[in-house]
Amino acid sequence: MTNTTAESRAVPERHPIVSLFHVTKRYGKRVALTDITLHVENGGFVFVVGPSGAGKSTLLRLIYMEEFPSEGQVTVSGFLSSRMRRNRIPHLRRKVGLIFQNFKLLEDRNIFENVAFPLYVIGVNRNYIRKTVLDLLGRVGLYQKRNNFPHELSGGEQQRVAIARALVNSPYVLLADEPTGNLDPVVAREILKLLFRINIAGTAVIMATHDHELVRQYRQRIVHIEHGEIVQDENAFDRWSPGARELDEAWREEPLKVPPPEE
Ligand code: ADP
Repeated sequence: MTNTTAESRAVPERHPIVSLFHVTKRYGKRVALTDITLHVENGGFVFVVGPSGAGKSTLLRLIYMEEFPSEGQVTVSGFLSSRMRRNRIPHLRRKVGLIFQNFKLLEDRNIFENVAFPLYVIGVNRNYIRKTVLDLLGRVGLYQKRNNFPHELSGGEQQRVAIARALVNSPYVLLADEPTGNLDPVVAREILKLLFRINIAGTAVIMATHDHELVRQYRQRIVHIEHGEIVQDENAFDRWSPGARELDEAWREEPLKVPPPEE
């Protein structure tokens, strides 16, 4: 029996898009991460779970190259932490989307402008910006709110704006630091579904959270961090996952593709 939907989804060749090789990170005398080796493939989905202070945010900041390892190497789509020159960092950041627990939207700009902001910064053609931003807002279900300001939106809507903004530069990987931390459980699941739709369309997603209960229901890889060390890396396919409704729904809905880069 053939499944045309599944067949029509092209499966790209797999290679690591993000790698950490024996990474240790110290802040002064405090050790935040110890000897972390981790690979995430293009199109992969990884939950990084662990209690507060475990080192999750530090891990994401290293991938975003906001911090650099004290020892070891981080590579992100061909960018090497040890050879990273300051003037190359904006190029890396365009390929790595980032969302946070507290959304970090620009309060004095409307929703359209918030999502368009990363494109304004790099001086992209206005017509491309308009088309891309309106398309993305439609895909995250916020086209009608494009002229509203962040304070007029619910938490879940604000996080959807932040997601659209993170996707606007067509990243290879989306980093999410406790993206559901400020949201009630129902809205949190909606945000997870959105992340699954993004992932199904081909963007790798790395989501850090302390909420093991929320993420263990999904048939996805879970990397457990405690006291700065990886204590377990659960392979998704080893687990039987009941009731992963958002994941199933995400498969049935339209994949949330990142916009094609401007020619
Ligand atoms: P998590 O995201 O899992 O809560 P973090 O990565 O924020 O953990 O923190 C890991 C450890 O590193 C903690 O002990 C924290 O206090 C410390 N830490 C994080 N950022 C800094 C910093 N900028 N300066 C000093 N210590 C830090």
